[in-house]
Amino acid sequence: MAGYTPPTRDIAFTLRTICDIDSIISLPDFDHVDGDMVDGMLGEASRFFSEVIAPTNEIGDTVGSHLVDGEVRTPDAFKDAWSKYVDSGWGAVTGSPAYGGHGFPKTIGLSISEMMTSANLAFSLCPMLTGSAITLLTRHGTDALREQFLENLITGVWTGTMVLTEPEAGSDVGAVRAKAVRADDGTYRISGTKIFITWGDHDLVDNIIHLVLARTPDAPAGTKGISLFLVPKFILDDEGRPSDRNAIETVSVEHKLGIHASPTCVLSFEGATGYLIGEENRGMAYMFTMMNQARLEVGLEGMAIAERAYQLAASYAKDRRQGRAAGSEGPSPIIEHPDVRRMLMTMKATTEAMRGLVYDAVAAEDRSHHASTAAERETALDRLALLTPITKAWCTDRGCEVASIGIQVHGGMGFIEETGAAQFYRDARITPIYEGTNGIQALDLVMRKLPMHEGALIGGYLDEIATFTESLSAAGDALVDVRRELSSAVAAVRKATEWLNGSTDSVARMAGATPYQDMLGTLAGGYYLARQAAVAVADADHDPWMAAKVATARFYAMHLLPRVHACADAVVAGSEILFAVRDEFMGAEA
Ligand SMILES: Cc1cc2nc3c(=O)[nH]c(=O)nc-3n(C[C@H](O)[C@H](O)[C@H](O)COP(=O)(O)OP(=O)(O)OC[C@H]3O[C@@H](n4cnc5c(N)ncnc54)[C@H](O)[C@@H]3O)c2cc1C
Repeated sequence: MAGYTPPTRDIAFTLRTICDIDSIISLPDFDHVDGDMVDGMLGEASRFFSEVIAPTNEIGDTVGSHLVDGEVRTPDAFKDAWSKYVDSGWGAVTGSPAYGGHGFPKTIGLSISEMMTSANLAFSLCPMLTGSAITLLTRHGTDALREQFLENLITGVWTGTMVLTEPEAGSDVGAVRAKAVRADDGTYRISGTKIFITWGDHDLVDNIIHLVLARTPDAPAGTKGISLFLVPKFILDDEGRPSDRNAIETVSVEHKLGIHASPTCVLSFEGATGYLIGEENRGMAYMFTMMNQARLEVGLEGMAIAERAYQLAASYAKDRRQGRAAGSEGPSPIIEHPDVRRMLMTMKATTEAMRGLVYDAVAAEDRSHHASTAAERETALDRLALLTPITKAWCTDRGCEVASIGIQVHGGMGFIEETGAAQFYRDARITPIYEGTNGIQALDLVMRKLPMHEGALIGGYLDEIATFTESLSAAGDALVDVRRELSSAVAAVRKATEWLNGSTDSVARMAGATPYQDMLGTLAGGYYLARQAAVAVADADHDPWMAAKVATARFYAMHLLPRVHACADAVVAGSEILFAVRDEFMGAEA
């Protein structure tokens, strides 16, 4: 299997052209950060994740994590990798300086997460969920909980989990049944079975901090009756050190299609001691802090795995010789065949488009907390709300598609495990499912986000794309294809948006949600590539990397952006056709 070379130039270019990173690091909260520091950190991260973490990816897949005598054992290589990860301080980059963090913007943390996720998705899930737990605790925990738990989470001495799912409560989180009974000392006793808990148990650290949804007795039904608890694997002693084992049993570890090294646990809470976060019955609101961050990170996973699949496929296509390309005498590297070229360009353009979308969303998150004025913070928060479901769903759907194309580029060898292309495909397949399935993301987008501010939020985003598209005329002929295709795509999305926001038939809107999500994601991807091309075009004559940027945007405009039009009819088709075949004619013939 080929190694991983972090795309540091593309990451830096995206930080500059999409995030305007200089304007973020110049905000008062980031006084201690400067451009040289950021460059140095990205260089160091590139070396660390390619040399230390990437080599554990294949081992993790083949060895996996297992339950042995009630405790989860990870692959040996992970222990060494984890201790180097902690020693190097990578987990602490964005954490609060008050608790041992370095206080860098999330946008910079994202670049590091990208490299870690490309290097080893299964490994990255542990810091990813820990990061979400840190954010939740920072925003909603009491001072006492922050004092006891934050520093060790930020520095990676302990890790965090997100504990929602139960056998009867998957997408429908409101159906959670786990119980929380208040004890005389103000703590709670948590009981119930939770399933599918990522990194729910493991042997990399000496404490695991679970953030668990449960119901107090007499709580209202549904999501309004859910509370959130911090439940450590080991209860802390008076010195703040892990001591007594809490009443949590790891019942089993799932056998899965991919991410074999990430232990997906069934946990049984048997009167475990938990500490309430915030107020009773407000748990879902707090958990959304964690879920929204994780949704962006899962969108990132789609992009990061696509990058890895693309690198592997391109490397194979340069070596493998089959057939004769036009004008060549002997067997040609398959990269010379137009159809293989089409596949590789699809992988490259889609991956770079995703990078633009994910980075824009996370830059909006930084601005929503740190921008100088309340109005700027509000605007950024709205943008983040709009981009979160698209980032999660579009990037993970595309991640699977790109990983699948990666196998196709390899031909039969792609189906054989030893090349590694299959692992990327298997690993990618979970990403459209967890953190709210992509179907649920589409409903969030269409039913909640499109109507925001009476349609003005989505209208403003489409106006931004339309205005930018007009400005492309300044680039002359170089970007004429991009301008034409973007202009017609934005018009199509606007029409579909108006139909959705104008319809009073909520079932019809739900029926059109996923095709719409596809449309908007595809348009957004084209927009970010076009913004980069508009910058790159000035240097394209003398810098082949910049020329490639321009060509990539043109390819996307010609080959991929027209998919927007293919979705348009489905968005407005209504629900009747979805239910026209009666249930008894679905599945096995009656
Ligand atoms: C490897 C792995 C790791 C995970 N990690 C965690 C974790 O760390 N913590 C945690 O709490 N959970 C975790 N999960 C659980 C994951 O978030 C759920 O699997 C996911 O939310 C979907 O729930 P479900 O599996 O019950 O599917 P279901 O809810 O049964 O959904 C099945 C299908 O029905 C669709 N559907 C359901 N309801 C609706 C609706 N109202 N409208 C339209 N479509 C609908 C879904 O989109 C999906 O296509 C993990 C799962 C896996 C497999």
